[in-house]
Amino acid sequence: MVPVPLIPPIDGSHPDFIQLQSESARLLTFHDWPSSAGHIVEPRDLAATGLFYTGHADRVQCAFCRGCLRSWRPGDRPDQEHRRHFPDCPLIRGAAGDADFRASRTIDTRQQQQQAVAASSTFTLTSRLVR
Ligand SMILES: [Zn+2]
Repeated sequence: MVPVPLIPPIDGSHPDFIQLQSESARLLTFHDWPSSAGHIVEPRDLAATGLFYTGHADRVQCAFCRGCLRSWRPGDRPDQEHRRHFPDCPLIRGAAGDADFRASRTIDTRQQQQQAVAASSTFTLTSRLVR
């Protein structure tokens, strides 16, 4: 018995951008993400910042601003690259806390909440044993 690979219902050449506004749908597109690229950037980090895999080389696209990113290099952070190249992206702007913009657009609020939680927990308290 062998497991049947999960085939994503996404056509890379005609992607459904509405469907891809869901992080879980984006994650499914990385089922054939090249392992060479996987050593540099992880699918979950790409999907978390709105990106899905186009099926070509290491080229990904944002479901919100439709900007493409490729040629990932060691040390690249998907969220930082997304912000740097596409600062006007609705997802990037929404995550930055622009409430008016967020209210005027229908985007994945669940993901925004996750990002807000992640942003608020970027520091950790270290407790020490006192002798
Ligand atoms: Zn974008």
